[in-house]
Amino acid sequence: MKILRTPEEMQRAAQALRCEGKIIGFVPTMGFLHEGHLSLMKIARERADVTVASIFVNPTQFGPNEDLAAYPRDFERDEKLCRETGVDLLFYPTPETMYLDSHSVWVDEDSLSEVLCGAARPGHFRGVCTVVAKLLNIVLPDFMVLGEKDAQQLRILRRMVRDLNFPVEIISGPTLREADGLAMSSRNKYLSPAERAEAVCLFQGLEKAKELFAAGERDADALKEAICEIINKTTGTVDYIEIADNESLKSFQALEKPVLVALAVKFSGARLIDNAVLGK
Ligand code: AMP
Repeated sequence: MKILRTPEEMQRAAQALRCEGKIIGFVPTMGFLHEGHLSLMKIARERADVTVASIFVNPTQFGPNEDLAAYPRDFERDEKLCRETGVDLLFYPTPETMYLDSHSVWVDEDSLSEVLCGAARPGHFRGVCTVVAKLLNIVLPDFMVLGEKDAQQLRILRRMVRDLNFPVEIISGPTLREADGLAMSSRNKYLSPAERAEAVCLFQGLEKAKELFAAGERDADALKEAICEIINKTTGTVDYIEIADNESLKSFQALEKPVLVALAVKFSGARLIDNAVLGK
């Protein structure tokens, strides 16, 4: 596995591979890797000639009072995991090479980004879209693999690729979970042992919603209330629980089409998100 540390170096390598006709599969991450990230790399490896992963804690997607400085990092461990998972090229740039001092061009998605995490984290998806647009131009992949764990991000990046005509296919991978159902996340590390035990409430809430939906419940408020009841038994506070159209992310009352149930819960140590699609 080769480590590339500047956009120029990575782009030159990608151009050479494309000239040779190699299929490049790409998995962008912020590092502190877990099995969820590795599962996406395995999906990429199966379809690509060359698997590229990136590790970059993107400063522009963090708000001023968010956890940029505290975001967990362990490059040595990540490097080893990438190597063991069969990554061929690891792109590991610094913020200074990704964002020059005079950086002034941004990618804004202004419909799907208004709701859910976008409402709670202003500017977050502008940072995500901008960095992913840059990464696509640097890595030049044929396809990119993204996790369904970040449901809104996945839908926004699909929209960006469509609307800006990026020549890349997006493949999604399912959410990997701990044994109790908690979605794997780099931020789970912030939870105290007591909070870690409680954090399964997001998954339990989603399971409850699925159960009620399967039994015929089609009222969004009833599902939201059932989830809220489960969260309220813990020390976590609900940031949002939303039932939205699976494509437009618009709020839904009567559940006729496939809907996305998405929630964010704040614990003292971390804000966690999870989601499920009902009626697929
Ligand atoms: P992050 O490092 O959090 O920016 O995530 C990098 C990629 O991994 C994104 O496409 C995420 O959706 C995906 N991802 C994060 N957690 C999981 C998980 N538990 N299972 C599968 N994919 C995940």
